[in-house]
Formats: sequence, C-alpha cells, structure tokens
Amino acid sequence: MTGPATATRVLVLNSGSSSVKYRLLDMADGTRLAAGLVERIGEETSRVSHTPPAGEAGRRERGGPVPDHAAALKAVAEELARDGLGLDSPGLAAIGHRVVHGGMRFSAPTVITDEVLGEIERLVPLAPLHNPANLTGIRTARALRPDLPQVAVFDTAFHTTMPEYAARYAIDVETADAHRIRRYGFHGTSHAFVSRRAAALLGRAPEQVNVIVLHLGNGASASAVRGGRCVDTSMGLTPLEGLVMGTRSGDVDPAVTFHLRRVAGMSVDDVDVLLNKRSGLVGLCGDNDMREIRRRIEDGDEPARLAFEIYVHRLKKYIGAYYAVLGRVDAVVFTAGVGENSAQVREAAVAGLEGLGIAVDADLNAVRSDVPRLISPGRARVAVAVVPTDEELEIAGQTFALVAAGRGGVDRGA
Ligand code: ADP
Repeated sequence: MTGPATATRVLVLNSGSSSVKYRLLDMADGTRLAAGLVERIGEETSRVSHTPPAGEAGRRERGGPVPDHAAALKAVAEELARDGLGLDSPGLAAIGHRVVHGGMRFSAPTVITDEVLGEIERLVPLAPLHNPANLTGIRTARALRPDLPQVAVFDTAFHTTMPEYAARYAIDVETADAHRIRRYGFHGTSHAFVSRRAAALLGRAPEQVNVIVLHLGNGASASAVRGGRCVDTSMGLTPLEGLVMGTRSGDVDPAVTFHLRRVAGMSVDDVDVLLNKRSGLVGLCGDNDMREIRRRIEDGDEPARLAFEIYVHRLKKYIGAYYAVLGRVDAVVFTAGVGENSAQVREAAVAGLEGLGIAVDADLNAVRSDVPRLISPGRARVAVAVVPTDEELEIAGQTFALVAAGRGGVDRGA
C-alpha cells in the first residue's frame, strides 16, 4: 500500500459542511509545504486561499463560486499543482482525513476501504453535521486518486481507552445501548498530540506521566490522561457536554431541555440551537472571543466579567475532578486559541489550587511564545505548561506511520 520509497508527503484534509481546510506536509522532517482553505462551498461568494511553500508572502486568494466538494478538491489540486505539488506527484504518500465520529468501532487511524466508508456512514446519526461532510471529502479525494492510500483519523479515537465507568451515562442500559448513547469525547487528536508533547517537555516518556489537558478553543474540552491513555474527557455523546465554550453551554441539568419544551414551548430543534449556538460565552455576554471579553472587563463591563467567572469556575471544577480521577498529576497543560494565548484564563483557572501543588509563575505566564513551555514556579509539585496544539501535524503523522508500516486495510474492529 505504500507509495514509492521517496514518497514522504501527506495531504491532510479537514472537510466541513461548507469548507475544506488542507495542509500538505513532508513527513521526512514534518515541514509544512502548503496550506489553505476553501470556504463558503455552495455559495456564490466561495473563496480559495492558498499559502505556498514560500509562506505567507506568496499567499494566493481567489473568489468565484465553488459549487460542491468535488469542485473544492479540484481547486485544492490546482493550487498544489501550481506549486509543483499536485495530487499526481510521486512524492505524495497518502491523504489523511479528519473524521469527527468513529464511534466505538475505530480506536486507531484506519486505511479507508469501502467497508470502512460504510462504517463511517453508519455513524452519521451520532454526528449528523460532521460525518456526512467528512464522507463527501473522502469520496471526492478517492475519486481523484483511487490508487493512493487514504487514511481516516478520528476525533473520538484517543478517548476509546476510557474505562466503562467513565464512558457510560447512568441511564437505563437497554435504552442507552439500543441508541449507542455513551460518552465518546472529541478533540482526541489534539489531546493525544498535546499530552505526548507535554511528556516530552518534562523529559519523560508518555507512559510515565499523568496529565490534565485543557483544550480551550472556540470548542473546549478537558481530558485526564494516565500514562499516555485517556481515562476521562469532558465532552460526551456530542461536543456539547463539559466546559463552557464559545457558543455551547457545556454541562447543564438535562431537565433544562424538557423544562424549555414544557414551559417555553420550544421545539427540540430550538433547544438544540439554544444550547449549541446561543449559549456559552456568547449567550452569557454576547461575545465569544476571549480577547474582546477581556477588553470589556477592563472597561468595567459586568456581563463580560460574570461570563469570564462562569467560564473559569467550570474549568477549575474539571481540573479538580481530573486531579481526583488521576490521583497523581504531573502536569496541567493549556492548549488551543484561549489556552495558548490567554494568560488571564490560565492564571484564573489555577488560582487557589496551591494546596494541590498547582500554580503559575506570573512572569513565565505573561511570556508570549509559540513553543511548548513551562509556566509553573521552579519547584512546583505539578508542572503547568502551555503546549500549542497541531491537529494537522498529528493527523499527518498518524497517517504516515500507518502507511509506512504497510498495515493498509486493517481496522481494529469492536
Ligand atoms: P477553534 O475551536 O475554532 O479551532 P481556536 O483554537 O483557534 O478555535 O481558538 C479560537 C479562540 O481563541 C477565539 O475565539 C478566541 O477566544 C481565542 N483567542 C485567540 N487569540 C487569543 C488571544 N490572543 N487572547 C485570548 N484569546 C484568544
């Protein structure tokens, strides 16, 4: 299944419902050759932006309608060909696809076959917004290069090691099993990448460390990772559970749903939109960008301050919970847009946790940098770290490892 011996490039595709993000990497050294985004697919105002090997200075943008995913991938292929990196170039070893939901079936990256496509299709009811778009991207890419290994890397895979007592909801077992209701967790590619990098930062093997990872982007999730394996995570059946996010509520009493149905006459779809799109930071104060929220707090804005406090309070509860789950914690690690950039969120999230051995050094925390770094005081019992996430690099790495090992067509089943 492997390409020529010299083929070390991997194209990573992240196909959403109206966009395709892509990145071409050379896995000989992990360098980024090209990257880009096709957005507003299906609209008149579609846009293709492409960054070539020369970097941002050579960035190309073009508008005009891109009617569907097939046209979007064709545009990606054309852009890459202009840089001499077309899909037909012999250096391309594989295409790695981000797939949001792998259910209980996929616990590892998997070479895509017709049977695997059928399984991903079967998981559509669990991820109705994401898996269909991922599938369209895969089918289109396979049509363009049917001979090239294509690998699915699942957002849920890293969390399949969760013990049953962490993955099950305490609801009627028959109902749960009939409808595949359990906690799957998401952002797994990021949690895997960041927990491994954190171990490296501590100079230890992943098997030797226990880590709490806080992935704080627009979507946000926490995970407890023991010796390189996920033992609990905050997202559940869907990415709605857990932390307060940009537009999602995170944890609420499920009775909120039937209360709104009965008392406010809202439909199930209304509540879905409320909790997924009109809640979280945006629901609390009207903004979901942490930079804007901090600016408003500086100006004395009360709703922004309360939104920040609710966000941080939930975060702190999860740090405490996962400390208890792990028993011994070697590192608390912040990542993604908010985690990597907001010193205030990091400081507030660990404030008062000195008794647990968790604290940040104010000067180290204030440093802006894009490399993994420690921000805890020198002799702290628990390291606190900032580790930039890179989901595309992780997808490319997993894809390349699988293809290079020649284990094509294998999935672990379940
Ligand atoms: P996504 O979940 O969309 O991948 P990201 O991980 O890129 O999100 O995070 C986006 C969020 O990161 C923004 O909504 C914003 O709240 C936050 N963010 C980005 N830069 C900063 C910054 N300098 N300071 C504080 N927050 C930031």
